[in-house]
Amino acid sequence: MTTIKTTCPDCGDVMLGIEQLHLELTPNETNGAYRFDCPLCAVPRSRTAGPRVVMVLLAAGVAYSITGYDSITEDEINAFMKALETETNPVRLLGA
Ligand SMILES: [Zn+2]
Repeated sequence: MTTIKTTCPDCGDVMLGIEQLHLELTPNETNGAYRFDCPLCAVPRSRTAGPRVVMVLLAAGVAYSITGYDSITEDEINAFMKALETETNPVRLLGA
């Protein structure tokens, strides 16, 4: 099982399974964010994910959603999803 090491502000380093993380991506932004519930204190946490972290999380199979794009159409989302499936470097799609 793939585990991701991250940090809780209260507990320090924690290990999470990929199913415990959710990545949020914003088109045209280099950085994303990821959310998780700390396995030790159970507090929902959100952390910024730089381009390298985004790529690692996507490669590991972490679920993600596209946010912060009010006027996006379903067609654009589908195109982005399709591009993500074939793109070997997903960060490039985010304008990095
Ligand atoms: Zn914690």
